[in-house]
Parts: sequence; C-alpha cells; structure tokens
Amino acid sequence: MTSASVNDIEFRSVTKRYGAVTAVTDINLAVPKGAFVALLGPSGCGKTTCLRMIGGFEQPSEGEVQIGGAAMAGIPPYRRPVNMVFQHYALFPHFDVEANVAYGLKQMRPKIEAAEISRRVGAALEMVRLGGFGKRRIHEMSGGQQQRVALARALVNKPKVLLLDEPLAALDKKLRTAMQIELQTLQRELGITFVLVTHDQEEALSMSDKVCVMSAGRIVQFASPQEVYDRPANIFVADFVGKTNRLSGTLENGNAVRLSSGALMPVRDTLLAPGTALTLAVRPEAIRLAKAAEAAGGIAGTVTHRIFLGSSVEYSVAVSGLGDLLVTAERQSLAADGLAEPGDPVRLVFDPSGAHVFPA
Ligand code: ATP
Repeated sequence: MTSASVNDIEFRSVTKRYGAVTAVTDINLAVPKGAFVALLGPSGCGKTTCLRMIGGFEQPSEGEVQIGGAAMAGIPPYRRPVNMVFQHYALFPHFDVEANVAYGLKQMRPKIEAAEISRRVGAALEMVRLGGFGKRRIHEMSGGQQQRVALARALVNKPKVLLLDEPLAALDKKLRTAMQIELQTLQRELGITFVLVTHDQEEALSMSDKVCVMSAGRIVQFASPQEVYDRPANIFVADFVGKTNRLSGTLENGNAVRLSSGALMPVRDTLLAPGTALTLAVRPEAIRLAKAAEAAGGIAGTVTHRIFLGSSVEYSVAVSGLGDLLVTAERQSLAADGLAEPGDPVRLVFDPSGAHVFPA
C-alpha cells in the first residue's frame, strides 16, 4: 500500500459481466482522496454495479479496482475501508437508533468495549445532528431522520470512503434539497471520499466536486459539474444533464450554422470543416425571447405555452421548420418587456456560448 497515493479509488480497465449481460465495459476512473464524486446516468447504465465493485459486493470480470493504492481482488466488503448507505437505508425497524448505529461495531472482532461503542455511536449521531435521539425507535423517526441514522451507521466505523446509493431517493423534494446541503457540508467536514450514485442530474450537479456521466456501461464524461453543463462531451451528456433544445443543421463557416429551417444561427468557433452535418444542443437559457417588433435579428416564432416558475418563466415557442423550442427567462430580465402570452409573435435571439455543436 502506498500512503502517498492521491487517488482513493481507481478502476483499471474494469469490465463486469452478469452472464450474457455486460453491465460495465472497460471503465478507467481515478477518484482523488477527499473528493465528492457522483456517478450519474440513466437506469441500467452501470452506476450501481460500479459502486458495488468498490464495496466488494461484486467482483470485476476483468480489470482491477484499487482503494488507497491497494488492489481489492478477493477482499470481502467488511475488510475494505469503505461503508455503504443504501437507498432504503436497510435499518432494523424494531431496534432503537443507538442499536442500529452500533450494530456493525458490535460484530467486530476483536470485540470493542461497550463504553467505546457507546462513545463512537454518540459521536456519529452528533455528526448527523441526531444527538439525543438514541433511544427512539426507527418507526418513530421521519424519513429525513431515518436517512441520517443510516448515515451515522455508515460513518461510525470511520471508513475512508463512503458509498451512497441513491441515498435521498425516498425523500420529498424539499427534504431532499435540505439533505443535499447537509451531505455536502458533512463531506467537507469529515474530509472523506464520497461516491454517490444518482440518476438525478440536479443532485449530482449540486453536491459533487466531479460528475462521472455514464451511458450504456461506459464513462462518457468525468469533469466538474460546471464543465459537464457548459462543455458537454457529446449530445448524450448535453441531453441528460440540464435541459436542451436539439436542432440539426450544417456548418456554414467557423461560427455560423445553417439550421434545417434555413435560418442562420451563431455558434462558438469550431474547428469542424464547413459543410459538416451537425447536431446542436442549445440551452433554454441561451435563447433570449424578444418582442417581434423590437429585435431585428433572430428567428421568428410564436409562443405556444408559458410555464410560470416563480423566479423564472419557461416558454415553449413554435418555430417554422424547427418545431417547439424551450426558452427559459429569468423574471428580472423580463421586467421591462412583461410576460409574453401564448399566441404572441416573438423573435428568438441565440447566445453562441450556450449552443453546443456536435458532428451529426
Ligand atoms: P439503476 O439506476 O436502475 O439502479 P444502474 O445504472 O445502477 O441502474 P446497474 O444496476 O449497475 O445499473 O445495472 C447495469 C446493467 O447490469 C443492467 O443492464 C442490469 O440489468 C444488469 N445487472 C445488474 N445487476 C445484475 C445481476 N445481478 N444479474 C444480471 N444482470 C444485472
């Protein structure tokens, strides 16, 4: 084991097959020590399989998983410096909170003294802000509190790495947002490596330092949340992370695209050759909605729907030859114009920095 290793977890050319099904293919991934990494992707893309191979619940068919610089082949889950929080928490409902958190410590050999167990359980409960709840039964706890009990139980034996499998999936939206902030704060405080599995892009973007976007058993992008959003590696990432308008066209010159409707649209400079067939991913917030009479440039369309979201407004705008485009506008930026109504003729002005261009 090399203590100087900066990567806590490494996948080296890992493939996992279940019989005829290949769940993940040739995964190479290095998770730095103390990072918060989210594995993000649609159902069935192989996220949970990767997590379970770190935890030791599955073995790679090919390749190697390392933790802290040490190869993990043949090392069972309980001997790995990791712990896992499951989606449905897997708590013992008939035990009280303390007994649930203490459970793993009590199984350890050589035995840990009762006073030491009690001290560690108390510390873990304080960590998740459940000090004083030790004697409560699990069924007397709210969903968010149960979530924290599961966290405390996973943290009580001081793992180097915490694995979280859709840990917030059972919570309602408001609680989920609150727990996202708590989890992130906790991770920063503890400084241990977190690997989170989620299919919720908002969750991945808001909590993690790095997002590993997966599709069909492969990693398609591993980068910071901002980079994944602003510079998606391909059309799949652009579609999956954030909202996107998908258009097609042909590159006219270095920074303009002739859309399938015939209209010309500005894009960031690209190195592709003029004439290249393209797929474009345009963020809804990169399109400005202007009143038809005011904007000379842009593309003409008609508002079909308006969804009021409080601080922002989402419009669906029908454009001849392009179909319906989604446009998001901050309320502030609309104040002068007022809200457009369904039926209003408008012009759409594109911001080149929010248009991502991929060869078709
Ligand atoms: P979800 O978000 O639905 O949990 P996931 O991205 O975590 O999906 P995995 O659970 O890793 O995906 O599954 C990847 C692929 O491997 C899927 O096609 C799945 O059906 C298959 N798979 C997973 N576990 C097994 C198993 N024990 N036996 C056979 N096939 C499996």
